[in-house]
Amino acid sequence: MMNHNCIGIEKNAELAAFVYTVSHDLKSPLVTIKGYVGLILDNINNKEYVEAKNNAMTINRIADRMLCLTNELLDLSRIGRVSSDPVCEPLNDIISDVLLGLDGLCDNVEIIVHPSMPVICGDRIRLGELLQNLIENAIKYSSGSKKPRVEIDAWVKDNETVCCISDNGIGIEETYFEQIFNLFERLDSNTPGSGVGLAVAKRIVEVHHGRIWCESAGRNQGSEFYFSIPIRSI
Ligand code: ADP
Repeated sequence: MMNHNCIGIEKNAELAAFVYTVSHDLKSPLVTIKGYVGLILDNINNKEYVEAKNNAMTINRIADRMLCLTNELLDLSRIGRVSSDPVCEPLNDIISDVLLGLDGLCDNVEIIVHPSMPVICGDRIRLGELLQNLIENAIKYSSGSKKPRVEIDAWVKDNETVCCISDNGIGIEETYFEQIFNLFERLDSNTPGSGVGLAVAKRIVEVHHGRIWCESAGRNQGSEFYFSIPIRSI
């Protein structure tokens, strides 16, 4: 009986955290969609119908990604857990989709994605959420720099895919390297946020039997966020 209660509480906490995350993850693509709607209205005023069509197609792709997230939420409400069949996919493909959704945030930031990256294995949707959270943070916490710059690279080591997202932003003191992965933990009250993203990122990595950590030379020295996920044959 006691065990059942514990499981119930755990699942409720999981559900509550997940609902919070999904609304967090849906915000950025919505901002981007609003930007594209503005462009389409301008296109129509200027009779630029080809551009209007291209912009409408971009909205469609972003909306598809949002649909995936909301479908995942519905699944969760039905069965209490989220998972899609594992896949092994080039990391570049997942990153391209994520960057499309973050388009509205990227305007003044130089984003460098290394062109050839290894595959990554796991739940495609959750891996996208993991990358979205880390890339969004890198953009957000470097946007005050003179020349904001975010770099994404990945390699294989000891049968694991290791990915690094680095930025030249506000940096992190060593004492907080572990603490920031706790739910609702925030160091910088000047930047909007909920303190959920890194806790979710950690959870996703753990579900994939991987590790996540950060490094930084300190305040205003930029940050590097790493995660590693085992390569499986599926
Ligand atoms: P949020 O960004 O919504 O506050 P997160 O859980 O994603 O929540 O991050 C927790 C905290 O970790 C942030 O509030 C910020 O203090 C710190 N942080 C996360 N990413 C970075 C980064 N790239 N550079 C500097 N600090 C960061």
